[in-house]
Amino acid sequence: MKGRIFRIQRFSIHDGPGIRTTVFLKGCPLSCLWCHNPESQRFEVELAYRSERCMSCHRCVAACPVGALRPISSGVEVDRNTCNGCGECVKVCRSGALFLYGQEAEPSEVLEEVRKDAVFYRNSGGGVTFSGGEPYSQPDFLLEMLRLCREEGIDTAVDTSGHAPWKSIEATLDLVNLFLYDLKDYNSERHKQLTGVGNELILDNLRKILDTSDVVVRIPFIPSCNFQSPDDFDGFLNLLLRLDVGRVDVLPYHSLSRDKYRWLGREFFEVGDGPDYREFVEMLREAGIDVSVGGYF
Ligand code: SF4
Ligand code: SF4
Repeated sequence: MKGRIFRIQRFSIHDGPGIRTTVFLKGCPLSCLWCHNPESQRFEVELAYRSERCMSCHRCVAACPVGALRPISSGVEVDRNTCNGCGECVKVCRSGALFLYGQEAEPSEVLEEVRKDAVFYRNSGGGVTFSGGEPYSQPDFLLEMLRLCREEGIDTAVDTSGHAPWKSIEATLDLVNLFLYDLKDYNSERHKQLTGVGNELILDNLRKILDTSDVVVRIPFIPSCNFQSPDDFDGFLNLLLRLDVGRVDVLPYHSLSRDKYRWLGREFFEVGDGPDYREFVEMLREAGIDVSVGGYF
């Protein structure tokens, strides 16, 4: 059984405690407007094109079996409705202007990568984090990876949107040391506008996980989206208190993913103004919640 991943990041220090390897699984049922990993959203392999590297040699145009590349004076245009991600163009591009996001991998192959840093995990209290995309969108692959890590004695964390069937999550409970559980909005209607889905399933699953597992709730702080005014501080805090959440990681917004949107031929969402995340952090701490910022545990 193979999984589809788009990156394995070694020496990660903001996806759980200690030094970690983060395995990013491709594909997500949500479509958050501000997503900082746009290459994670779609399940299929995607072609990226960095025009600034292109030498306009047009070798890729001839290599494409389906005519998805059109030569222009400054490089090429990608017809994304026609491109099937076969990668033939990537093989002939000498400048690195073309590359693919997404590859198939066996659990044993991923484990081999993860194992390389086992000594760092042991010395730092780290391990492996499965992120995405949404890891539970590939439940069999995730379960097998977690089993293999358990056999190797490697600490595991899963970074999830929580938008997954409970039975997929339940099957992994004994194998996950820590859940990093995203909470994008307390208001379901707005959650749907911002991410494409309501938050009912996410909150149902969160309640169950909080009963059984170690959980850090991660809140992306996105001005003009889920944080439009200080009223939203109250909305989030009330929900956290109702759920009896003890640990929160606030993730301030950044726009570092702008280029990736361009490489994928997608529009970047411009976030507007809003309140200061530090005031929210302060408010949570005053309420007795243990808070970290930016994933640095
Ligand atoms: S092969 Fe690479 S460098 Fe040549 S035109 Fe295509 S993208 Fe540009
Ligand atoms: S990935 Fe394949 S289908 Fe897409 S542009 Fe390249 S050669 Fe054509």
